[in-house]
Amino acid sequence: MRFSRRDFIVATAAASLASATPAFAGGKLQVVATTGMIADTARRIGGDAVEVKGLMGPGVDPHAYRQTRTDIVALTKADLVLWHGLYLEAQMEDFFHKLEKRGTVVAVTDTMPRDVLRGHDDYADKFDPHVWMDPRLWVFVTERVRDALIEKKPEAEAQFVANAEVFLAELSDLSDYAEKSLTTVPEEARILLTAHDAFGYFGAAYGFSVLGVQGISTESEAGLNRISSLVDTLIERDIQAVFVESSVSDRTVRALVEGASAKGHDVAIGGELFSDAMGPDGTYEGTYVGMIDHNITVISDALGGDVPERGMTGRLSAGS
Ligand code: ZN
Repeated sequence: MRFSRRDFIVATAAASLASATPAFAGGKLQVVATTGMIADTARRIGGDAVEVKGLMGPGVDPHAYRQTRTDIVALTKADLVLWHGLYLEAQMEDFFHKLEKRGTVVAVTDTMPRDVLRGHDDYADKFDPHVWMDPRLWVFVTERVRDALIEKKPEAEAQFVANAEVFLAELSDLSDYAEKSLTTVPEEARILLTAHDAFGYFGAAYGFSVLGVQGISTESEAGLNRISSLVDTLIERDIQAVFVESSVSDRTVRALVEGASAKGHDVAIGGELFSDAMGPDGTYEGTYVGMIDHNITVISDALGGDVPERGMTGRLSAGS
């Protein structure tokens, strides 16, 4: 079938009309979020007034993620785009700065007080982006998401405020649970060794020393020197368990365990942590609260603390 020139013009006009008004089709605010943690937070606050598309699924590393063609379409059409900022989405940084001109883009960490942020040796002029690891810091992000939703859909303000209150109360419970559980870990065992440096805020909040095989980003590979010096640390500090992460290859952590074993020091893999991505879709671990509950519970348990097997509210999967 061939289109006449007139058909083409009509079709083009219809398409541009459709793309100019996707926003309130069906009344829901169309939101696109980068990480699962941001998407979950937006869903909790937005409820049935928003439709949220998360770009990065379980196991996806945000440091390395690049937007796909489908993402670009979704990001361009969205009423509101929520990204993390603080150089987390390093490969998408330029794209978001270009998109900012549309007035639909919010970096959810942009109003966080700078004095609660941590620096890092890897990042001379930047902050550590992994703020979701401390639920008290996620309060700032929650409030930022709530306010961004209100700005784009003021008629749903009461609903957003009420939903945010419920979510903030859960963050407060999560924070109490973390404090209570992690203080049961014997003081000399409070060393958290993971695949990359994602746990700086966690360590600062709960008094753990933190060691990452890779640095703050996953962009550079750990060298042999780094591995062998960490093996020495494992032995010197008598570390009993180290952790793999769902969004980073476990190869280097396993090399450490083997290196220590070759020198006569047995160290266990304490479990898999959700560092930069949440657990499987549709599970409790696939939510922000569930992901952090899982981390707290697995870490406490593997390092000799005393925690309920199924976590804060008994919702963790068995054997997690
Ligand atoms: Zn990271």
